[in-house]
Amino acid sequence: MVQSGMNQERVEKIKKTREKILEILEGYDLNNLSIVTLGSHSALNILKGAKEEGFKTVCLCREKEKIIYESFPVADELIPIEDYSDLLNEEMQERISEMNGILIPHGSFNAYIGNLEKLRIPIFGNRELMYWETIREMQHEWLKKAGLKIPRIIEKPEEINRLVIVKFPGAKGGKGYFLATDYEEFLKKSKEMVEKGLAKAKDFKSAFIQEYILGTNVYFSFFYSPLLDRVELIAIDRRYEADVDSLGKVPSAIQLKLDLSPTYTVVGNFPVVLRESLLSEALKAAKNVVEVSKEIAYPGMVGPFCLEAVFDENAEMTVFEISARIVAGTNTGIPSSAYSYILWGENMYMGRRIARELRLAAEKGDMRDLIF
Ligand code: AMP
Ligand code: AMP
Repeated sequence: MVQSGMNQERVEKIKKTREKILEILEGYDLNNLSIVTLGSHSALNILKGAKEEGFKTVCLCREKEKIIYESFPVADELIPIEDYSDLLNEEMQERISEMNGILIPHGSFNAYIGNLEKLRIPIFGNRELMYWETIREMQHEWLKKAGLKIPRIIEKPEEINRLVIVKFPGAKGGKGYFLATDYEEFLKKSKEMVEKGLAKAKDFKSAFIQEYILGTNVYFSFFYSPLLDRVELIAIDRRYEADVDSLGKVPSAIQLKLDLSPTYTVVGNFPVVLRESLLSEALKAAKNVVEVSKEIAYPGMVGPFCLEAVFDENAEMTVFEISARIVAGTNTGIPSSAYSYILWGENMYMGRRIARELRLAAEKGDMRDLIF
């Protein structure tokens, strides 16, 4: 277990990076900002929201996905890239800062770029918390500090003595996850995942093994507004996962014969409206997570974050994961979810909510609290 993600050296380094980024922001014309993101994940959501709030929008996009951003013209400018990591090129960063570009990070930043240390363009959000998100043990520490009920972690595969879900580094969106009840099953399924090309043998040396919580999955997308100092529930969704969501279509006798081993590759999301009394637990959890974020990663949470939860047969909530940025489940909340409409009384969704916060800060002439 990671005892603490923050040693003094790291704190100093983060402070310096932040100072540099704020210096770049000083040179920006806040009345002429561009909202920039990578073409994937929730870019339609982010760019549509930014346009609705009156910003210029820019999408860095690979040839493969170009058809999406041509079919839905939410970007004023499409910049072709070969790979998502082109964002880190010096010339690209220069080009974006010349257009007063603010980057909106999403799932592809963590999945395909990883270390954002080379990135000196202002980001809406807290890049240190995005780093916490990438290390499962650190996420766990954060959730624990916030007092949330979380699944037990099994330190070694040999110690598996209950139903567990096995995740490994680099696995994204549930691809290659599997269930096991003991060590033998762990070995058998690991081998199967490698044979199917869903994982590499070396991945399982550092597998993250978590108690599997039987229940209903609910993903809460919140927004913490530093300007209004409040946590807003923007949308709730659940995932549509291959091939675990297709198991019910196969009779159990056939499942047994085939010895099926489902995985959790995400292919889409559904909107969810929660039983109202259950909202209190989720809202309290979100507030606690924000409080702890201020202790572990100055200046704390900025903007979107997601709590991934399971509600069991007693309707008790266990949180198994946190994302410190927009998640793709918020795409179900366009133009509004029940919750964002109740709160705002107008169409509001995560991409637009991000842009609204930026617009309000730009109008005040101070964006420092939103940027890292
Ligand atoms: P993509 O650009 O679609 O490959 O997505 C980038 C990252 O976000 C990957 O790690 C995906 O697994 C994850 N992701 C994409 N869409 C979703 C979704 N609808 N729900 C959850 N995760 C997603
Ligand atoms: P994740 O990549 O952590 O978001 O997990 C992908 C999927 O695996 C989730 O959408 C759930 O269906 C499932 N899952 C992950 N962890 C757990 C857990 N501890 N208990 C139950 N289901 C889980």
